[in-house]
Amino acid sequence: MKITLARHYGMCFGVRDALRATHERAGLGTVTVLGQLVHNPVVDEQLGHLGVRRGDLADLGSAPTGSEVLITAHGASDHDRERWKKAGHVVTDTTCPLVRKAHAALALLVTKGYHPVVIGKDGHVEVRGLCGDFPEATVVENFRDVVRIGNRSRIGIVSQTTQPMERVRELVDLIGQCHPASEVRYIDTVCQPTKERQAALRELCAENEVVVVVGGANSNNTGELVRSAAAMGAKAYQVERPSDLRSEWFEGVERVGLTAGTSTLDESVRAVFDKLKMLASAQESREGGFLARLVG
Ligand code: SF4
Repeated sequence: MKITLARHYGMCFGVRDALRATHERAGLGTVTVLGQLVHNPVVDEQLGHLGVRRGDLADLGSAPTGSEVLITAHGASDHDRERWKKAGHVVTDTTCPLVRKAHAALALLVTKGYHPVVIGKDGHVEVRGLCGDFPEATVVENFRDVVRIGNRSRIGIVSQTTQPMERVRELVDLIGQCHPASEVRYIDTVCQPTKERQAALRELCAENEVVVVVGGANSNNTGELVRSAAAMGAKAYQVERPSDLRSEWFEGVERVGLTAGTSTLDESVRAVFDKLKMLASAQESREGGFLARLVG
């Protein structure tokens, strides 16, 4: 069984920077992360050991009075950022620069008179942040949501940074077709690390029967990689750690591809890779024994 690692995989610079900042702040005193820093339980465990508290962006009572709070890489609305500052908290903002770019694009469209549309997962923290300053925004998750945009003379579209490009393009086209009388403007806000990982996944699926994706069960981009791999015909499995791998997934399989979501630690990918190699060796020994018995 041959194991191939994707050309681009795993933790992106935005998550890496947010993690580094959190570790630094944790060493200096009480810090409360407003939400889940990254959607990865392995990271949660590590931050728990460092004494990092978990708060709720929507709940001013979820951090000790006047203490330091940290906005995650997924970003937040200006409205929420200001609420925490006004309540007397020191706000450390680890919003990824590419999420900021999506906020700026949406603000620009609204300023120019476009009705704001965000293609993304309704309720996801990044989407909530994007829409937080524009409550009139329409979130479009699938084709059924397109009708909710209503009659608008100008429609301005951005997307959650981790959406698959194909889905975004399809939905932008559909919005245009359903609103032929509207002026539709789309600004591409899918981030470069997401595009690279999606392109690398296509290569991986073209060459492998099974694809393993390492990442948190509630990580949107990990889920997107699993769904995209399955849509491309690979058998796709999501795991958080090596103990999640099942040997029966690889019975009779010759080529396995490995990738990881943008919130996955390098050490998690390495540990899963090592376990896959062990499974491959065990498979080889079993097949060697079988052949030896046949020849004998
Ligand atoms: S996935 Fe993209 S937008 Fe999100 S933190 Fe990483 S680089 Fe930034």
